Amino acid sequence: MFFANLKRKVHCSPPKFKKVKRYKSFTLKQSGWKLDENNRTITINGQRYKYFQSRRVHGKIKTVTIKRDSLGDIYVYLVTDAKNFEVEARTGQSVGFDFGLKKFLTASDGKDVTSPLFFANNAKLIAKASRELSRKRKGSNNKKRARLNLARVYKKMTNRRHNFHFKSARRLCLEYDTICIENLNVKGMQRLWGRKISDLGFSDFVKILKYEASKFGTVVIEVDRYFASSRLCHCCGEKNPQMKDLRIRQWKCPKCGAMHDRDRNAVINILQEGLGQRPRQETESDFTFIRSIG
Ligand SMILES: [Zn+2]
Repeated sequence: MFFANLKRKVHCSPPKFKKVKRYKSFTLKQSGWKLDENNRTITINGQRYKYFQSRRVHGKIKTVTIKRDSLGDIYVYLVTDAKNFEVEARTGQSVGFDFGLKKFLTASDGKDVTSPLFFANNAKLIAKASRELSRKRKGSNNKKRARLNLARVYKKMTNRRHNFHFKSARRLCLEYDTICIENLNVKGMQRLWGRKISDLGFSDFVKILKYEASKFGTVVIEVDRYFASSRLCHCCGEKNPQMKDLRIRQWKCPKCGAMHDRDRNAVINILQEGLGQRPRQETESDFTFIRSIG
């Protein structure tokens, strides 16, 4: 194709060789490696390398996998025979959570989890790195370097978010036995609020939460997303159609007179729905039914 274009004097770049530097990995079993935990070095095929240990090694090492990602960073994965060494959490506490933009999690018991500040800072860093990338001349080495830099910023952000998710999930699973959340419609939320939702990575967090929960014996209950959590009074079950208006933050139940904070009331509903304890609204037919028995 390249030579045909050259003949016709059509400009196009020459064909590229297959890149050897792309993602690669290999796994070693019993031999070929030696780990020195004290000196933080690993010997692979006679060559010694220094490494940074992200966590302590438990048990006997079964396999060693070396991976290189697209940025050229090299990772060593150790698979050991250690059993799940987590202790089971038994606190008897249940909680309902809702995801939000200002607050990462609104909790039914008031112990909310705020979004870390670095979420916002990361967005600024990304904007800066991509601005720099677009300024560089096409095909130049500076462009290449800027592209790599942007990829690195993205990776750093992902790692930090991942870390925050794991730490929060772990802490919540230790604190609660049952966690009720709303079954998310992330696609719909993305359309409403733009990029921010994907920044917070709620669906990633739910996955991590479920994973951590399985280790600690915590139950995660997902409540159907069509359930009208923000429109119902959690005290009496009265439905308030006015709550479709998202601007209303505080409201008074027209039936029982309870004062509600929009978000707090919604999570209490999620908790009650998840545990199957939501108060049923007494209707006229229910009342006649009871009377006829008496
Ligand atoms: Zn009420």
